[in-house]
Amino acid sequence: MTFICTISQAIAITSATVANIDETAQKNIEIRGVVSDSRKLKAGELFVALTGENFDGHGFVAAAIAQGAVAAIVSLEWAKSEAAKGLPVLAVSNTLTAYQDLARWWRSQFLQPVVSVTGSVGKTTTKEIIASMLACYVSPDKQVHKSQANHNNDIGVAQTLLAIAPEQHDFVVVEMGMRGLGEIERLARTTLPTVSVITNVGTAHIGRLGSREAIAQAKCELLAETPPDGTAILNASNPLLLEMASKVWQGKTITYGLGVGDVNGELIGDRLQVGDLTWDLPLPGRHNALNFLAGLAVLKALNLDWQQTTQGIGKLDLPFGRAQLYQLPQDVVILDETYNASPEGMLAALRQLSDMPAKRHWAVLGTMKELGEMSTQLHRQVGESISKLGIEGAIILADGEADAILAGANGSLKYAIACHSYDDITQTLLQKVESGDRILFKASRSVGMDRVVEAFRKTW
Ligand code: ATP
Ligand code: MG
Repeated sequence: MTFICTISQAIAITSATVANIDETAQKNIEIRGVVSDSRKLKAGELFVALTGENFDGHGFVAAAIAQGAVAAIVSLEWAKSEAAKGLPVLAVSNTLTAYQDLARWWRSQFLQPVVSVTGSVGKTTTKEIIASMLACYVSPDKQVHKSQANHNNDIGVAQTLLAIAPEQHDFVVVEMGMRGLGEIERLARTTLPTVSVITNVGTAHIGRLGSREAIAQAKCELLAETPPDGTAILNASNPLLLEMASKVWQGKTITYGLGVGDVNGELIGDRLQVGDLTWDLPLPGRHNALNFLAGLAVLKALNLDWQQTTQGIGKLDLPFGRAQLYQLPQDVVILDETYNASPEGMLAALRQLSDMPAKRHWAVLGTMKELGEMSTQLHRQVGESISKLGIEGAIILADGEADAILAGANGSLKYAIACHSYDDITQTLLQKVESGDRILFKASRSVGMDRVVEAFRKTW
């Protein structure tokens, strides 16, 4: 069973004003699903007309009704328009809020644990690890329900919650992203999480938020909206996070870390040890060991016996460009991190590269976006890290902050090359890379560094 309620219930949940649906129909007609994309609409569902910068769902209301939608949620203004004449509509002051209200109501019908994950970096990875761990504990014929891919904004979170099927799902894991203050609060209020994970507080989106304190405050909105009998799972190595969290959260807390925290792990090669138990980590790198520890802390919060995960946790379902290793001919290995980049993610990936045994290490990097006034300084620090970690070669796409990275590296590299196009990078790599080398590719999503990975893999 998926989403179900009567039209009368939907009216009450969203405080809507109804038009063109008689009272008997309101009481008797059931809504079986809520969608905002009219192309995906099935007969019997409720269509919600969302509006964004580049789209207006109101243009699709008539088509949705013709396709069999029982009604549509529309704005109060649109309900007065000529186009709305005769259509069964529920008019509300804000259609997104109504969509979230329906999601929250449906989530509240689900009595099993709902885990939410936010943080500057590592949300998707941690969400996938938690979901794979929880899959070890589901009852027969049941599954873990989770956010698809990176669906972590207002619409994505509501969609995830509206797709909960209480008879099929034992656990729900929801990723929450944000770009400004107040966003996590809204997402958390919709989600009513029982366990809330904050992976870290870094500098991603500092351009919009202004300071690390503001970022910490934004992440901690999750805790302010977690019910008091829930559990907070916090990265023990992040003092700012712990401090901010203590201001808004007095409930049960489990911290995790490497060498610190309630769930205190030790990394031995690719194996993680906590107390008497050990695990083979599904993903390489210290940062992924932390993400795994966050998962163990969630199991602890839910009183699930860790032993059941020590034989391995299902395959992780990570989208492209995250911790992806490609073994190429002549013993060349690529670490594809082209999905996105933030200062913390960049450092984690550079560390992971330098930890890989290799003849030489190459970092192929582009700009990290949305860093505002701190951008140049943070790119300089990337250069300093490259140099400190003993990486031999940096190939930088000259698209903005290349000079800052190269200046940070301060002449210590054997090769420091600025390239002006994707093709230029590919050609440079083809000339320089030798058997035994390891190459990291990383930049913000919009840089499109994945195209270079593709070109290099094809031509090498
Ligand atoms: P987005 O904001 O794009 O949704 P996200 O928070 O979901 O990102 P992931 O997609 O899990 O983050 O990881 C993005 C990158 O961040 C990874 O490719 C890796 O380089 C880095 N990373 C992942 N986990 C951590 C961590 N715990 N600490 C630091 N860096 C991390
Ligand atoms: Mg994500």
